Amino acid sequence: YAAKRRTAGAQVYDPAVDTASALNLSLLSELRRAVDNHELRLYLQPKIAIQTGSVCGAEALVRWQHPTRGLVPPMQFIPFAEQTGFIRQLTLWMFEQAAAQQVALAVLGVRRVSVNLSTRDLLDLELPEKLDAILRRHRALADGFCLEITESAIMDDPQRAESTLNRLAERGYKLSIDDFGTGYSSLAYLKKLPVNELKIDKSFVMAMEKDAGDAKIVRSTIDLAHNLGLTVVAEGVENAAVLALLHELQCDEGQGYHMSKPLPIDDFCDWVARWQARPPAAPGLATELR
Ligand code: C2E
Ligand code: MG
Ligand code: MG
Ligand code: MG
Repeated sequence: YAAKRRTAGAQVYDPAVDTASALNLSLLSELRRAVDNHELRLYLQPKIAIQTGSVCGAEALVRWQHPTRGLVPPMQFIPFAEQTGFIRQLTLWMFEQAAAQQVALAVLGVRRVSVNLSTRDLLDLELPEKLDAILRRHRALADGFCLEITESAIMDDPQRAESTLNRLAERGYKLSIDDFGTGYSSLAYLKKLPVNELKIDKSFVMAMEKDAGDAKIVRSTIDLAHNLGLTVVAEGVENAAVLALLHELQCDEGQGYHMSKPLPIDDFCDWVARWQARPPAAPGLATELR
C-alpha cells in the first residue's frame, strides 16, 4: 500500500501500525503454542536470610525458550501477555510448575517460592479457587507460596485488589509488595492490606554503596517495613559491599546476582546444595560469596 488518507483526513495510513499488529497477532499465537510445546521455562533465583546466610526462599521467573529466537527474557513478552490477557494462563502455569517442585525444594531447605502476579490476576475473582485447585493436584501448601504484587497492580482497582488479597491471605498464601518505591503507593492501603513482605526495588539497591540517596531510601524502607511488622527483602544485590550494608541496616532478606542469577530448576538445586553445605561465615561481612 502507498500511504493513503482516511475519511476525515486526520488519520494517515501508517504501514508500521499494520506491521505491528500483524507481529502482535503472530506473537499471541506463538505464546499460546509455547505452552503446548513446552517452550516456557521456570527459572528460580534464591532469596537469602541476610542475618544467617541460609537460603530461605526463591523467586519464580519465567523464560521463553523460543525455537528460533533463543531464550527470550520476560520483559519482551510479559507486557504483551498482560495486554492480551494471556498472562492469566501464564501465571497459572508458573504456579503449577512451582507447586510441582514444592517437596523437592523443601527438602533442600527452600521453604517458600515467590510467584509474580499481574494486574489481570488480581482482577480475576476466581484466582484464589484456581490456585487452590493447583495446590490440591500437587498436594502443595499455600503457606509455601509468596505472591508478589506491584503497587501499580493494586492501585489499578484498589477495592477489587483488596478483596482478592484478603481471600488469598485467608487461605494461607504470603503476600509481598514487589518493586516497592517505584509505584505511587498509598501507605494507607499498605496498612490496610494483609501484606507480609516489602520488596525494595533493585533500582535503589544496586548502587546503594555509592549513592547516599539510594542508601537513605533503602534505610527508610527497612525501617518502615519493620515498624509495620513486615519482612523486608532487597532485590538487586550485586556485590558484597551492598550485602554488608544491608546486614548492617538489619534487612531481612536479599536476592541478587551476587548470590546467584535466576537458574533452571536442576542448576538451582545444585546451587542450593553447594551453598547450604558451605554457608558464608558472617553473611553481611563475607567478601567472597562465590
Ligand atoms: P521482578 O519480579 O521485580 O523480578 C526481579 C528481576 O530482577 C528479575 O528479572 C531478576 O532476574 C532481576 N534481578 C535479580 N537480581 C538482580 C541483580 O542483582 N541485578 C540485576 N540487574 N537484576 C537482577 P527478570 O527475570 O528479567 O524479570 C523481569 C520482570 O518480569 C520481573 O521483575 C517481573 O515483573 C516480570 N516477570 C518475570 N517472570 C514473571 C512471571 O512469571 N509472571 C509475571 N507476572 N511477571 C514476571
Ligand atoms: Mg517479583
Ligand atoms: Mg521485584
Ligand atoms: Mg523489579
